[in-house]
Amino acid sequence: MKSIYLDTGATTHLKKEILNEMMPYLTYNYGNASSIYTLGKKSKMAIEDSRIKIAEALNCEKSEIYFTSGATESNNWALKGIALANKTRGTHIITTKIEHPSVLKTCEFLEKQGFEITYLPVDEYGLISLDQLQDAITDKTILISVMFANNEIGTIQPIEEIGEICNKNNIYFHTDAVQALGKVPIYVKKYNIDLLSLSGHKIYAPKGTGILYIKNGINIENLIHGGSQENGMRPGTESVANCVGIGKAISLITKDIESRNKKIRILRDKLINKIHKNIGCAKLNGHPTQRLSNNINFSLRDVNGTMLTLILDVLGICVSSGSACSCKSKKPSHVLLALGLSETLATESIRITLSEEITDSQIDYIFNQLSKVIDEIRINTL
Ligand SMILES: *Cc1c(COP(=O)(O)O)cnc(C)c1O
Repeated sequence: MKSIYLDTGATTHLKKEILNEMMPYLTYNYGNASSIYTLGKKSKMAIEDSRIKIAEALNCEKSEIYFTSGATESNNWALKGIALANKTRGTHIITTKIEHPSVLKTCEFLEKQGFEITYLPVDEYGLISLDQLQDAITDKTILISVMFANNEIGTIQPIEEIGEICNKNNIYFHTDAVQALGKVPIYVKKYNIDLLSLSGHKIYAPKGTGILYIKNGINIENLIHGGSQENGMRPGTESVANCVGIGKAISLITKDIESRNKKIRILRDKLINKIHKNIGCAKLNGHPTQRLSNNINFSLRDVNGTMLTLILDVLGICVSSGSACSCKSKKPSHVLLALGLSETLATESIRITLSEEITDSQIDYIFNQLSKVIDEIRINTL
């Protein structure tokens, strides 16, 4: 039986060439990057080389790149850090209803601390309205946090236009770009982005690695306090191997964006079209064109998403019913509900996120298995 992994939106495997670059720092190059002897300096140099690579990939300064334990930490740091440092200027934050839980739960926490949060709705395709964003701004607004691309439905927001609005109104702009990295070009300066979160394990680096881009001159408080690592702003002895791994991953994923994504997009559209043509009552969730090249999200009437996922697993195919973070809770996805789907239809959904390794013949195989299982489930629930 062939086993096919179609859940890169949840995580990816560690690439061999990334592990190879990390290996010395997991073994013989174990020096503390703060030590002044050669073994320590080698670690320091590896971290700084990685920082330079990341800055090049994001078109920013290396002093604007901070290593974190993942995008959950990056999002927490961006929101709490800006809120705390700027609360005398204002206590209002604007975000959206479809953010990742690491943004939404942080906002809920900040609400308990006395901050006021506006959660912007989205249209049926998952896009926010720029007019509604403009209208939500008050003289107390200090931060706007809108994800670059959604992890469940793949919808890509008008980031450049949002950045312009933030810039004009002198409001900090944070974006969770975890899913967008490597799929669309990211220009932090051109888009007026002040803070940007990235995760390593979505781009073939190890789990537990992340980045927060913080534009120079931004007024932000620490999330973590301690030593002088990362300019004293994100203390803790550096995981040198992780810093090296995420740097390598970012430089790989941001090369040849155009051609790599074109290939995946063609295969994705082939699968979407096959589903539309041959499977009844299938509704594509998310934007038809303004979406991540590898994302497919369908609602399938009378097909429970969890059941479909578990049966496909037996057949060696890994997909997701909703996002990895929300499927265990069994609550319908907050993203799909925000699109206006009924609770039932929201639980009758699956997400397929293709990997770079996907082939044309695999698409045919996946479609055949998918359509067989969907037919069986529908017959049995009649
Ligand atoms: C995976 C993901 C995160 C969380 O990243 P971790 O590194 O797992 O903490 C945040 N935002 C989005 C959009 C994600 O897809």
